[in-house]
Amino acid sequence: MSDNPAAELLNLVEQLEGWLQYQNRLGLAGVPRARAARPRPRAKEEAPVISLDQVREELGDCRRCKLSRSRTHIVFGTGDPRARLLFIGEGPGEEEDRQGLPFVGAAGQLLNKMLAKMGISRGEVYIANVVKCRPPGNREPESDETTQCLPFLLKQIQAIRPRVIVTLGRVATQAVLDTQTPLTRLRGKFQRWGQIQVMPTFHPSYLLRFPRERHKTWEDMQQVMERLAQND
Ligand code: URA
Repeated sequence: MSDNPAAELLNLVEQLEGWLQYQNRLGLAGVPRARAARPRPRAKEEAPVISLDQVREELGDCRRCKLSRSRTHIVFGTGDPRARLLFIGEGPGEEEDRQGLPFVGAAGQLLNKMLAKMGISRGEVYIANVVKCRPPGNREPESDETTQCLPFLLKQIQAIRPRVIVTLGRVATQAVLDTQTPLTRLRGKFQRWGQIQVMPTFHPSYLLRFPRERHKTWEDMQQVMERLAQND
């Protein structure tokens, strides 16, 4: 025990002050409070301009493009309507069309594994696609189909207002970012959609074909987790 507790306390306070100034120079605005005590941060605190239910209602029994003729179900999207993390794929495959849910086939199994590795459940994120009806034979969506369907995805983003969007593959990345830049140049680097951070990465179907590339998507997901933690 010190023979001068007051001096020791002063010394401790000075050390703490120095440490806080150092943290401040590193960009820390304040000392974070306990996680449970804070409200969940969102991209913007104001109420969304549109709700997911309204977007779904507006989509209706969509017949805006030719994909509607061969679909079984519209695959609108699934998950937490207030998710902080939104995954966007290209369009439903056979299993998704059958069940009316996104990423429930082979690619979905890999997405699930990735989420498990991230320590996140499917129910905590939101999952959607650029087009909501299955392109026959799993071909890529054609430009007229994307043109009709993309506005609904953009409204879904506005309704959810996630912190981070992960675009899965070239089609989703180029559609969301409205660019022709190749995925290879965008992958692994944060982009922006308004205030929202967008991380382009490989599509799980591609990773099923080229498993050696999986570590790159895992690196991208680690960046995503860091970004989400920063916003905590
Ligand atoms: N591939 C996609 O892009 N979306 C799905 O929902 C399933 C597979």
